[in-house]
Amino acid sequence: PARPSPACSPCRGRGRSARGGPTRPGPCSGSAPCSERRSGRTRGRTARPGRPPPLPPPSPGTRGGTDGADPVREQQRAGPAASGRRLPAALGSVAAVPDGAVAAAGRRPPPAADALRLREVLSRLSLLREDVSEASTLVNTVVPHLVQAIRDKDSCFSSIERQSAGSYYERVKISEPNEFDIMLVMPVTRIQLDESDDTGAYYYVSFKRSPKEKGWLKFLEEDGKLSAFKMLQALREIIKQEVKNIKGMEVTVARKKAGSPAITLQIKKPPLEISVDIILTLEAQQSWPCSTQAGLKIEQWLGTKKRRDFRFRSIYLVAKQNKREKVLRGNTWRLSFSHIEKDMIKNHGNSKTCCESNGPKCCRKGCLKLLKFLLEQLKRKHPKELEKFCSYHVKTAFLHSCVMWPNDTDWHLGNLDHSFQQCLGFFVDCLQKSQLTHFFIPQYNLLSQEDKARHHFLSRKISYELNNGFPVFHENY
Ligand SMILES: [Zn+2]
Repeated sequence: PARPSPACSPCRGRGRSARGGPTRPGPCSGSAPCSERRSGRTRGRTARPGRPPPLPPPSPGTRGGTDGADPVREQQRAGPAASGRRLPAALGSVAAVPDGAVAAAGRRPPPAADALRLREVLSRLSLLREDVSEASTLVNTVVPHLVQAIRDKDSCFSSIERQSAGSYYERVKISEPNEFDIMLVMPVTRIQLDESDDTGAYYYVSFKRSPKEKGWLKFLEEDGKLSAFKMLQALREIIKQEVKNIKGMEVTVARKKAGSPAITLQIKKPPLEISVDIILTLEAQQSWPCSTQAGLKIEQWLGTKKRRDFRFRSIYLVAKQNKREKVLRGNTWRLSFSHIEKDMIKNHGNSKTCCESNGPKCCRKGCLKLLKFLLEQLKRKHPKELEKFCSYHVKTAFLHSCVMWPNDTDWHLGNLDHSFQQCLGFFVDCLQKSQLTHFFIPQYNLLSQEDKARHHFLSRKISYELNNGFPVFHENY
């Protein structure tokens, strides 16, 4: 199967021409529980002065075990990057090419060594992930303790559960191993969803029938809307009391920020310092809202059956203030598809054997990790300018890329470089048009037209990286 060489620029790949085709993604929406910028967070990096770990020796033939690993943290991190000493570039410098459009003709073809370098970057990321286990052990001591206390202390919360316990690796941001997001899921029945704006992603939640458990009344507003703010407030109080009972480490609840009811735990056990964002989530077994009808266009990629199966799954709503509202009341909820996204990223093959133990391997996960890492690194370098971008943007672009290039042969492991460039090319295209369709909610554009200047800024930065062999991968911020 003759694939374009790794040196092939994205504009010559077959995907480029497909871009205007019918598979072109529509708008996108932040379904992942998007954390507000974490203020007052202690960066765990300081606890591990040795990072980043040394790069493994170049080994072109091996995958370094990175590709089969879980996808990286899914949560949005809009916060500014950690400050830190700037260290010299780890992998030597590359001749600089000025910023420019990715698709510009005459772009310097990447040196053949680039593919090798990208693999090295992936290996390094995989080492960082091993680093996480110690921190996650600590989180896994604290969280079950809190969940139990929450269940016991308020009967409304008696069936709250931590989502996918044990899969902590997946949620961990690649380069911040000491930041965790934990979804606490509340099953609810017969809820009514009323759109709170035209995104199709934000809703008011009310009960069709008054819930049996009368305790719920305290979380309702006068008009019957379920208040995320009131629920979080109650959770926060329970957690604040309970952390005092945790022995062997220091657990505190970070101060509340104005307008944000988010709960952030800080866990200290020298030398470790960890922060955990608690995301309140509602789970309802009912059909997905109409705004999702034309989304999730995975027929060509994962198949019609898979799509139908996904759409039979529960809906999840995360407590998330809709910033577009004039009065912030803390009663809006945002659809979250992180459970579906996780499934798609794990079982991503067009043929069932992709990346299975004895099946052919692909580079989809590798591409996603590199995309996320690239954005993280650029955010570190330009915290102010890139403040509004989060990993959900690149994840969405990645999912659209999977749809655009549905075949496993499009993602041959040996063509990591080319595939990565194609994904990036697509993302840059979205940035230049300020149009990135939510993967599940076609009417929702994740790149609001008002932020055009920021989109162009990121697009220029990515183009620069593309044209210069990704120097930012080898820089420390
Ligand atoms: Zn695969």
